[in-house]
Amino acid sequence: MKPSILIVEDEAALATMLRYNLEKEGYRVAEAGDGEEALTAVAERKPDLILLDWMLPSLSGIEVCRQLRRRPETRELPIIMLTARGEEGDKIRGLNTGADDYMTKPFSLPELLARVRALLRRTQPVPQKGQLAFADIVMDLAAHKVTRAERAVHLGPTEFRLLQFFLQHPYTVFSREELLNAVWGPDIYVEPRTVDVHIRRLRKALNGEDGADLIRTVRAAGYALDLEGA
Ligand code: CA
Repeated sequence: MKPSILIVEDEAALATMLRYNLEKEGYRVAEAGDGEEALTAVAERKPDLILLDWMLPSLSGIEVCRQLRRRPETRELPIIMLTARGEEGDKIRGLNTGADDYMTKPFSLPELLARVRALLRRTQPVPQKGQLAFADIVMDLAAHKVTRAERAVHLGPTEFRLLQFFLQHPYTVFSREELLNAVWGPDIYVEPRTVDVHIRRLRKALNGEDGADLIRTVRAAGYALDLEGA
């Protein structure tokens, strides 16, 4: 079955245009016109991905995102924020709230569709077996679970793929561009700073209160998984 997408948008014309084009691609589509409705629709329909407008009546997109990330059942739900704001600070704030991607209106439809495809690919990976491990981190690929020193680590879809990539190539320094290519895919333009946001989220989830930091920042070069920073 094709993935289902929830459009959360209060501009009716934009919502209709998005629905038309997503259905044309074969997706199943549901709509919500405000933040409260969005939370209800997520609980009832369990979509595979949300297009979430930032400026919404009743509850802002940021608040919806925050609430979804707090709930275990929607912690990993892929979210693309749509916004009229174009400030870099807003973008980082959006990503820090837990969104997986971010598009500024007016956006190009082919680009939006490409990002939807890329994010779904990232979050519905080809089933894999086995385990990856480094120091006290264990990633179970079949169960899609991560533990650190036997404590469960909850990661969003992008952080999971980032960690998987690092675990497959320990002790290797990757530039932001290399990480973007490997994790987001080469067909997508994402600003390199976005990588920093996801690395921060990955570190926070992995390290908890007092875990040693196993992700090393290499100034002007990028990031590596190794024991030097620990
Ligand atoms: Ca709006």
